[in-house]
Amino acid sequence: MRPQSLIPLFAQTTSLPGIGPRLGKLFEKLAGPLLVDLLWRLPFAVIDRRHAPEIAQAQAGEIATLTVTVDEHHVPRSPRQPYRVTCSDHTGRITLTFFNGREDYLKKLLPVGEQRIVSGKVELYQGEVQMTHPDHVVPLEQRDQVLRVEPVYGLTTGLTQKAVQKAIASALERAPELPEWQDPAFLARNRWAGWRSSLIQAHAPGEETDLAPDHPARARLAFDELLASQLAVALVRHHNRTIAGHVTQGDGRLRAKALEALPFALTGSQRTALGEIASDMAKPERMVRLLQGDVGSGKTLVAFLAMLIGVEAGAQAALMAPTELLARQHHATIAPLAEAAGVRLALLTGRDGQKQKRKTLQGLADGSIPLVIGTHALVQEDVEFADLGLAVVDEQHRFGVHQRMALSSKGHAVDLLVMTATPIPRTLMLAAYGDLDVSKLTEKPAGRQPIDTRALPLERIGEVADGVGRQIASGARVYWVCPLIEESEEIDLANVEERFELLKVRFPGKVGLLHGRLKSAEREATMSAFAEGRLSLLVATTVVEVGVDVPAATVMVIEHAERFGLAQLHQLRGRVGRGSVRSTCLLLYAQPLGETARARLAIMRETEDGFRIAEEDLRLRGAGELLGTRQSGLPDMRLADLAAHAELLQAARDDARLVIDRDPDLESPRGAALRALLYLFRRDDAVRTLRAG
Ligand code: ADP
Ligand code: MG
Repeated sequence: MRPQSLIPLFAQTTSLPGIGPRLGKLFEKLAGPLLVDLLWRLPFAVIDRRHAPEIAQAQAGEIATLTVTVDEHHVPRSPRQPYRVTCSDHTGRITLTFFNGREDYLKKLLPVGEQRIVSGKVELYQGEVQMTHPDHVVPLEQRDQVLRVEPVYGLTTGLTQKAVQKAIASALERAPELPEWQDPAFLARNRWAGWRSSLIQAHAPGEETDLAPDHPARARLAFDELLASQLAVALVRHHNRTIAGHVTQGDGRLRAKALEALPFALTGSQRTALGEIASDMAKPERMVRLLQGDVGSGKTLVAFLAMLIGVEAGAQAALMAPTELLARQHHATIAPLAEAAGVRLALLTGRDGQKQKRKTLQGLADGSIPLVIGTHALVQEDVEFADLGLAVVDEQHRFGVHQRMALSSKGHAVDLLVMTATPIPRTLMLAAYGDLDVSKLTEKPAGRQPIDTRALPLERIGEVADGVGRQIASGARVYWVCPLIEESEEIDLANVEERFELLKVRFPGKVGLLHGRLKSAEREATMSAFAEGRLSLLVATTVVEVGVDVPAATVMVIEHAERFGLAQLHQLRGRVGRGSVRSTCLLLYAQPLGETARARLAIMRETEDGFRIAEEDLRLRGAGELLGTRQSGLPDMRLADLAAHAELLQAARDDARLVIDRDPDLESPRGAALRALLYLFRRDDAVRTLRAG
């Protein structure tokens, strides 16, 4: 149950004065349905209205708050002309200009002969001092309400700055004092105020510099959010540890057979990763480990060897891939090795025939099939395992947290290995998973050549096509990627198709087309034609991003490279450079190139190191955009900025650890306050583990 003290914050925005259902919808769109959502929208700018010159001193371009006498209304003859009101003080005259101004309204707002405070941007128009649509027009008594530093909030269509300011001001009045959940010494060291006064301060910036992420009020609120999320993951993990896992120890006999069948040796980082996994599996606690490594770094092989550990110990192991195509690819890679090891391996996807499927399900249920690779078909209800010991989930950011959990819930305290080809920067990892155990494959398999990466303006597309022609003539396989931006999928598809048509005419019989709207059978036919070399050029959208494996491909052309994120460019480039032949990546960009896009392309030319690229990506884009927080399962931070608050994140991690060590059930007075913190940031799930455990 959410503590009583939080109830006012979890009221609907529509409970605020002046916000009915219509405005309520807009506020919901802007921030969310509740007061707490609104309060977490901090101002992004300030307008200083304290400058109050006389008219003669007012400078064009500056924000000024003037005290004027209303002289005359000039009602326009035609509605295309603006409504003008002339005013003055003892130093000069000013004209207030209103487009589409309503006469009755303006005459009430600015009665002739009376004094008013007007605030807005001063303009000079044909030698006259002017102000178009003043931000404020109020009687003298309200002077102090205008003459201040005003916070400026992000808006959504239909909401005015004034409406948002007013709503936030009244929401702030309802914000309760809450018991302090921070460590008092830490609070004192940082000279932070309490939660409520920090919140009020963060909404009342006195100047531009108060908007900085390291301002004490903002830092405190960010730390609250980070602490809530770190504590939540720490609690869940602590809870998981209390569930006993299996001790899974293999004797190495199956691994030895598989390794013997390999035409190459494991890289150093593959060996290290496998060692880490083996020692996790041998512990009585459940393993939850992330295996990170660029495309082609050999994760699948590591996963397979880990699965064999499970089989050596008499258990079963399953690998789940995000797409049919990938599941089949993994199966094709692993099948010969499984055969060499003498272990039965099944493939389970949504498209198996009934008879085949029944056989597989039977084998999994009675344990006669120890290894299975599949799609999310693996987590369907009818799938049962005799004794699932290890679950491997590939390309984890394509799966929701639920699917990941679903596979491990097919057994008891199943060890979980999550593989991702998206290198996640340390800060993001920490924010999302707390202290998750990570193995990294940093070495490339021997014999790989560096990729020759070049950036060219789109105008040189003709030369690029010529070059591609020469490559094709000498037997190369080429990817040609066109961007797909979700908002205008139709247009993007038209672009891909147009490029396909053009290249098809130029290289008849050699060009295939691949995009997400095609039927999957059609897609697979094209893919295998390309893989087998019957097609030389594959025009595609980013569907090739996810794990498509054609080691013979050596050229990657990316059109409108400036529209792709760094991580995505890196993923795409990873489709080539997988064999022993030197590969090329051509980044075609439209001019003029923005600063960020220029920086991205420069980094792409500079390095192939996915971890470095991920860090740069975080720096250039900010965490929210990085992987698309929605689909990545990364937390959606409202107050913390993972790029700016990296140090606070570390501190929150350490603090959460300390709390778990000292008071794992949150029973001390600080513990009780921390429960409220968890509820405040909607980590009810974590609080629930307290009671369950
Ligand atoms: P990932 O899953 O990380 O994208 P894969 O496991 O699919 O990478 O490996 C890519 C290719 O590299 C595969 O063809 C695999 O057989 C090969 N490979 C894996 N490990 C090594 C190694 N140590 N030496 C040489 N080739 C390797
Ligand atoms: Mg892979």
